[in-house]
Amino acid sequence: MKNKVIYLDNNATTQVDSQVVEAMLPFFTEKYGNASSMHSFGGNIGKDIRNARSQVASLLGARPDEIYFVSCGTEGDNSAIFSSVLTQPEKRHVITSAVEHSAVVATMNELKRRGYDVTVLGVDERGQISLDELRNAIREDTALISMMWANNETGTIFPIEEISAIAEEHGIQFHTDAVQAVGKMPINLKELKGIDYLVCSGHKLHAPKGIGVLYVRKGVRYKPYIIGGHQEYGKRAGTENTPYIIAMGVAAQLAQENLEKEQTEVAALRDMLEKELIARIPDSRINGDTVHRLPNTTNISFKNVEGEAILLLLDGHGICASSGSACTSGSLESSHVLRAMGVPFEYAHGSIRFSLSRYTTKEDIEKVIEVMPGIISRLREISPFKK
Ligand code: PLP
Repeated sequence: MKNKVIYLDNNATTQVDSQVVEAMLPFFTEKYGNASSMHSFGGNIGKDIRNARSQVASLLGARPDEIYFVSCGTEGDNSAIFSSVLTQPEKRHVITSAVEHSAVVATMNELKRRGYDVTVLGVDERGQISLDELRNAIREDTALISMMWANNETGTIFPIEEISAIAEEHGIQFHTDAVQAVGKMPINLKELKGIDYLVCSGHKLHAPKGIGVLYVRKGVRYKPYIIGGHQEYGKRAGTENTPYIIAMGVAAQLAQENLEKEQTEVAALRDMLEKELIARIPDSRINGDTVHRLPNTTNISFKNVEGEAILLLLDGHGICASSGSACTSGSLESSHVLRAMGVPFEYAHGSIRFSLSRYTTKEDIEKVIEVMPGIISRLREISPFKK
């Protein structure tokens, strides 16, 4: 009999909620018009898009006219960073952290190629930046600070309130990649006036892949990344992807309704998993900040085993997780996040990220707790690192 899938890879992507699917389907079949059309069949769609915008705004504590739909988190990050530097041509310096997602890392590398100075702040063993280092890195010509709200690999939450306050105090724009944070923790942008740009992504909160949101604070000058028609108030050209926009709106509403559950029930299951694995498996450790952390994420390292081997054996039990190491062009390279945190080599290579969701059950977690000790001892027996 085939195993039921135990899906603990929700930071990679999530199952689309059935209510989300139901809400979006009519926009493929009955309500397929173009919101820009003059006829009412298309024009009426604008009302549904406005409703979705309000649902997202409500989740973020933003105004609906600060919310723009884009194709994904990556597009949102690219758009925010380029807009910030291109609208301040006299400023040639940006600050970011060493643990950003590749959507930001690659954009920063592109800025470097274009002659910008990029200061990359390191992190401590919990994955936290130093606010003093941030203050010291600020220059006269700093255009932008870009720091993620929560880390995708470890769940570590940056002190966004403090970081955005520092940016505001110095008159510097601040962008936060909140792809992992939105839907898992309360966010109220009305209270965080120093955030100029925020990005989230539908597929991390039970909407489909291929829809994202870019928040641009009212009054911030914006230069569109994708140019063409006047859609999204001239901030993002391209005919609106109505079904996915509707999906994003409903997913945002459901995320808001389930926030409490994320903070309590999901966190309790994550804590149970973590506590039992650490207790049952010698030479294991948690990576990341265990206090300031997303409720659904744990990143655990097992000494002297390969993360990818663990994943293969977990897969055999129908368990989906992800590893911090990736086999690139024949050389095993551990994640840039764990390396930046100074996780020792023999631990970094055996790191596994379990990321839960509101669909995760106690039985799922019990199954992982049951199989993991056997998997690790089996791999340690054949490990080339074995003493
Ligand atoms: N930023 C973070 C922190 C992420 O985890 C991801 C996706 O894994 C992205 C950005 C990119 O989002 P998308 O897949 O929607 O482009």
